[in-house]
Amino acid sequence: MKYSTALAASTRTPRLPSRYEKRTPPSAGSKKPELPWTDLVCVGKGTYGEVYRARPDDARRKTQGNVVALKKFIQRDDDWGFPITTLREHKILLKLRHANLIRLHEVFSPAPSYKSPVFMVFEYAELDLEIVIQSPVVRTIDEARTKSIVQQILEGVHYMHANQVMHRDLKPSNCLITRKGDVKICDFGLARSYKPGHAYTLPVVTLNYRPPELLLGCRHYGPPIDVWSVGAIFAELFKREIVVTGRDEGDYLQKLYALCGTPREVDWPEAKKVCKHWREACGLRCDKITTEPYAVAASQPRRRRILETFAEKGAAAAKLLDRLLAVSPTQRVTAKHALDDDFFWEGDPPLPAGNRSLPWDCDLVRASRDDTQRSQARARQRKAAA
Ligand code: AMP
Repeated sequence: MKYSTALAASTRTPRLPSRYEKRTPPSAGSKKPELPWTDLVCVGKGTYGEVYRARPDDARRKTQGNVVALKKFIQRDDDWGFPITTLREHKILLKLRHANLIRLHEVFSPAPSYKSPVFMVFEYAELDLEIVIQSPVVRTIDEARTKSIVQQILEGVHYMHANQVMHRDLKPSNCLITRKGDVKICDFGLARSYKPGHAYTLPVVTLNYRPPELLLGCRHYGPPIDVWSVGAIFAELFKREIVVTGRDEGDYLQKLYALCGTPREVDWPEAKKVCKHWREACGLRCDKITTEPYAVAASQPRRRRILETFAEKGAAAAKLLDRLLAVSPTQRVTAKHALDDDFFWEGDPPLPAGNRSLPWDCDLVRASRDDTQRSQARARQRKAAA
């Protein structure tokens, strides 16, 4: 499947069910916002609104630096109250502070009205990993930089997990990278605190980065779901394309089994208790004629091919990917143990903090992404008109 088609199909964050969207009534009247930031340039879009690069006024520059990212939440007329994902992001970010998690400076509203926009003010990062991976301007991402990026993501994830928080939507576009080469995990809209033994919402995690246990209907999931996503991001950094992708869940699961092997009961004995679709997924109930994706995917048992697929990247890299992309969450390495993996200690060391500035022109890299997006939009319009 073409990279752009796969992206459109399955890089979207899943929406939480509507029962989570608690709303309160809006009050009438709105005021033109007066902001303590100037020179706003739109750098990203989400379902909630837009993200701008901006310059703080003199008073704020001391604490916020010369440039910030403003995430603007627009209250539409049909909206009742503030999106739950935003409240969640705010609550979690107040709890967490780490060099590899995006820093929230403040939450600002220019007027005390329900209809007034609300801004979350973050530290600014020039690029995100999706832009870097796709950009033709970035010809190579060498081993030392790949190590530094993966190590930083794991540091951030380990810190989150040590604080009983799951991110639940790790993907390249949610891993920002600054001009200095520092990685900052962002978008905590789906994040939530974790307690062992609890059942959680499905679906979570954008499809291309979603671990098998979630597709098999496991609601008693935990931090290993984020570790799988880190493995998928790591593999994508190497291959410069999404490694497991699908038009829908069934197609995705087939591709996942083709790379990681069909799940086996011996690797994950508890699965039959916690995964609603486990028996079909293992092909244990193939007599039942069903079109459910997990059963279709299991009809041809596949063997694991991670080590051979990534062998050209070196044995240590392939072995770490094998540990991160373990089909069984109980066998999957933790973020903490992954940081001790031989991959980070053999060959070229990861680029150290303070000496890993990006070698690419960040403005050019971002502009190349904007050009690609514009030509894709034109192609879609032409197709729709034809
Ligand atoms: P989000 O809704 O948080 O995933 O943001 C959407 C896009 O806006 C991201 O993929 C980034 O390209 C951009 N973005 C978000 N936060 C920042 C930030 N702190 N600095 C720079 N760009 C950002």
